[in-house]
Amino acid sequence: MSGGATIAGTVSLSGRDSSAGGPVKVRLGPAGPGTGIWFNGRTRATLSNAHECGHATCLGRSARKVRMVEHLLAACYGLGITDLAVETIGSTLPIGDGSAEPYARLLMKAGIVRYEAGPVPARLRRPVLVRQGVRFIAAVPARGLTVNCLTRFAEFGTQFCAFTATPAAFLPAVARARTLARTGMSPAAFRKRLGLPFRLKRVGRFVCAERWRFPDEPCRHKALDLLGDLALLGRPLEAEVFAFMPGHRLNIAFARNVERELEAR
Ligand SMILES: [Zn+2]
Repeated sequence: MSGGATIAGTVSLSGRDSSAGGPVKVRLGPAGPGTGIWFNGRTRATLSNAHECGHATCLGRSARKVRMVEHLLAACYGLGITDLAVETIGSTLPIGDGSAEPYARLLMKAGIVRYEAGPVPARLRRPVLVRQGVRFIAAVPARGLTVNCLTRFAEFGTQFCAFTATPAAFLPAVARARTLARTGMSPAAFRKRLGLPFRLKRVGRFVCAERWRFPDEPCRHKALDLLGDLALLGRPLEAEVFAFMPGHRLNIAFARNVERELEAR
């Protein structure tokens, strides 16, 4: 998708903090063309401000830190939103139902305003590869962004999903995929703490939804997280991406390598 976009009005979402379970709130508002996505007016959603923290992506450090930004950023990438003002109450974004759908709905409710002027796409000229042990993310030059994701969790077997990052594909195929939680809490206690509207079950190391929305929901969620981390590039990536067991640390390392590759020209 070319061009930029913001939202027309201000919308907010209240919910629970996925780690501590306390009340948190986020308010989303419009931002001018070329502004980028900013948190609390001081931290821009960029790779230089990002790091992995406890199976989530965080922006900023210490008192300014905002945790678990990836599902909002995935919704922004999926819907083509490039400019946004994000205000948070609490240091973590609301978990919602563990997917990007609450954020996608919120952004659409605010009304998406598109304009021709947008960030220059990050167009790969050469392949990029990042490995961490057996995990890897590779990308080759392509038009638009296609994500191919393969996961092999002992609990869920081998799963594969692929999608093209357009709003039409993002909403039904990826946005609704929910996260897996690594917690020692019982599924019932964890559900109560997060105020989730569906039942949970334990599968090995994870607590997850009792009923899947997709048979390969864990894999789709990993692809969703990758899209959220790619939003940290601040511009659409033009590449075909192949990911095996992606995670936030690997995603961020990959996006940094893409940035270096683009700067090296
Ligand atoms: Zn996630």
